[in-house]
Amino acid sequence: MIFTATSSVVGDMQQSMVFEEIKILPQSIGAYRHLDKAGVKRAILAATHLKGKRVFHINSTEKGGGVAEMLKGQVALERSLKIDSRWLVIRPKEEFFQITKKIHNLLQGKAGFLSGKEQRAYLVESYRIAKSIVPFLKKNSPDLIVIHDPQPLVVGCEIPSEVPRIFRLHIDTSTPSANTIEFLRPFLERYNALIVSGDEYSPSWFSKKKIHVIMPSIDPFSEKNRRISVEEAREILMQFNIHPDRPIIAQVSRFDPWKDPMGVIDAYYRTKNKIPDLQLLLVGIFQAYDDPEALQYFETVKRHAKGDPDIHLFSDPRRFVEIGNDMFVNAVQTASDVILQKSTREGFGLTVTEAMWKGKAVIGGDASGIRFQIKNGKDGFIVSDAKKASRLIIKLIKNPGLAAKIGKAAQKKVVKKFLRPRYIKENLDAYNAVLKQNKK
Ligand code: UDP
Repeated sequence: MIFTATSSVVGDMQQSMVFEEIKILPQSIGAYRHLDKAGVKRAILAATHLKGKRVFHINSTEKGGGVAEMLKGQVALERSLKIDSRWLVIRPKEEFFQITKKIHNLLQGKAGFLSGKEQRAYLVESYRIAKSIVPFLKKNSPDLIVIHDPQPLVVGCEIPSEVPRIFRLHIDTSTPSANTIEFLRPFLERYNALIVSGDEYSPSWFSKKKIHVIMPSIDPFSEKNRRISVEEAREILMQFNIHPDRPIIAQVSRFDPWKDPMGVIDAYYRTKNKIPDLQLLLVGIFQAYDDPEALQYFETVKRHAKGDPDIHLFSDPRRFVEIGNDMFVNAVQTASDVILQKSTREGFGLTVTEAMWKGKAVIGGDASGIRFQIKNGKDGFIVSDAKKASRLIIKLIKNPGLAAKIGKAAQKKVVKKFLRPRYIKENLDAYNAVLKQNKK
């Protein structure tokens, strides 16, 4: 690994800790030269006027989920470009994450609304966090603040308005709950710019000129994505009672209804009649502090698996202390014959990119983020039900040549569109635009 992350407390130690700084070492962007020479050049150029600028990224967890995964790499690369990027994670009271997970679900289109009591509790806790974080930020004279997702949205509004701020939305808001978006609107409107992963996520009332559409990216050199052989990967899986010579399908995702692990199990059951020695791995290691639903939902998924010995559920982080989460995910994505990501909503879906990078044929759900990545039938497949998913699993397992062809196209697509240099350059363009606008 080129970078390492260690955390250190910088919150007010006298009170309970309400935020923490995650220290990240620089990762040289030069490592990407052989994959995207022009992209590296463009990123370096975009950084010219940002050298020495202090940029604070603020989110709600440093592990588990796509935002944490992205921030590790983004901060490391920004630092190597001599931008003084830093990363703060808020540490709210437990019930806060229950409310923000509800906000997340409502924004992704779940029916319901936020009660007055929940709105108040969200605001009160946000102001409590802001009370500690704002003096810290003032002392550190930021040039720019980037707030990631709704958890720290209101906290970001409490930072004095002379510091420009960007709101980076990572989730699928193509069909948001009207009540929730209206509740958040006055806060969102206080941001100088909005970054979304796709056009369809932008609220119609947010000034078009201030919206930047930036699709996520992966780090091909990380422990999770570096090249390992299928033999090495299968050897790792053997230690977890997976049979290396029998077909494997897998979905790597937090246990969350939007990821539709139940649909994946249904697809497995349908396939099992035709491929009796099939094994299914569902990998959702509990890590994310901001996802309190995962544990409960895991139990529902477990019940649906009905104790089938060929369905392997991975959730307990203690099982991965030795090998590490990232190498285990790498092994699963590398060793599998087919990767599923049957999400019904997906802001982007880094797990899809990660598997495509490893040359896998991915069967994804018909969700916006997956449509951004997969061209159906060319570099992966998009399905809307378990029956179609099952048909494709059978086709791909029985025809490894087809799986390899799709996987090769998938890998090519990742190199072309979803690597860090392009991502960093587009983010720096957004920073430059906001700083320039603020100068006027
Ligand atoms: N992930 C992981 N371990 C797990 C499950 C997921 O490291 O057990 C990672 C996965 O490899 C990916 C990220 O978490 O990097 C999930 O990002 P994605 O955008 O797919 O979904 P999100 O969780 O942000 O909704």
